[in-house]
Amino acid sequence: MNIILLGAPGAGKGTQAKRLEESRKLVQLSTGDMLRAAVASGSDLGLQAKEVMDAGRLMPDDLMVQMISERIEQDDCRAGFILDGFPRTTPQAEALDEMLTGKGLRLDAVIEMTVDEEVLVERITGRYSCSTCGAGYHDKFQVPAKAGVCDQCGGTEFKRRADDTEATVRTRLDAYREQTAPILPYYRNKGILKTVDGMAAIDEVTRQIEASLAA
Ligand code: AMP
Repeated sequence: MNIILLGAPGAGKGTQAKRLEESRKLVQLSTGDMLRAAVASGSDLGLQAKEVMDAGRLMPDDLMVQMISERIEQDDCRAGFILDGFPRTTPQAEALDEMLTGKGLRLDAVIEMTVDEEVLVERITGRYSCSTCGAGYHDKFQVPAKAGVCDQCGGTEFKRRADDTEATVRTRLDAYREQTAPILPYYRNKGILKTVDGMAAIDEVTRQIEASLAA
């Protein structure tokens, strides 16, 4: 099964992708994570990505299409994948279709996660994660049971994304509204778009996603 999770920054795509990885044995393909790995490695791509991401803008389509095309070729994607953060523009969506057809693959579902913009700003500016195991936390909504200690692994180092500042979030939300949301009708017309309420509690969102995949 190959799925796209589509939604504004902070809608919960990463959280739900991790759950689908477990429940359906799929692989999460997050272009944001791939770019952050490139930034950490200090490569030329990483240098470019850092500037673009910190400004809240989008990376060039051709680069992102190539990145996903190469990743999908890898063995672990054979059982199916969850695209998280890709496609983000109409040219990316069209290139993805062409790429999948060329590889003899198809999309089973596109799941849109809807959340009000003001809630997104609050979610994003408060989020952080464990530097050791990646477990996600939030200043208000999900604090560790013991302050400063990761519930999952006991780690004591935490990090925040450089682009999770209020100013950058606004630009990222603009990019979503102007460049990404217009691809929703593309998938609606294909009859594979499902919409879930991203404002609901995490478990309820998972339930809605599983129900829409079973339908
Ligand atoms: P994310 O982790 O999905 O929120 O992505 C973080 C940042 O990486 C975005 O704000 C963009 O700058 C960049 N990015 C991630 N995926 C894409 C994509 N498919 N197209 C263009 N830029 C992307």
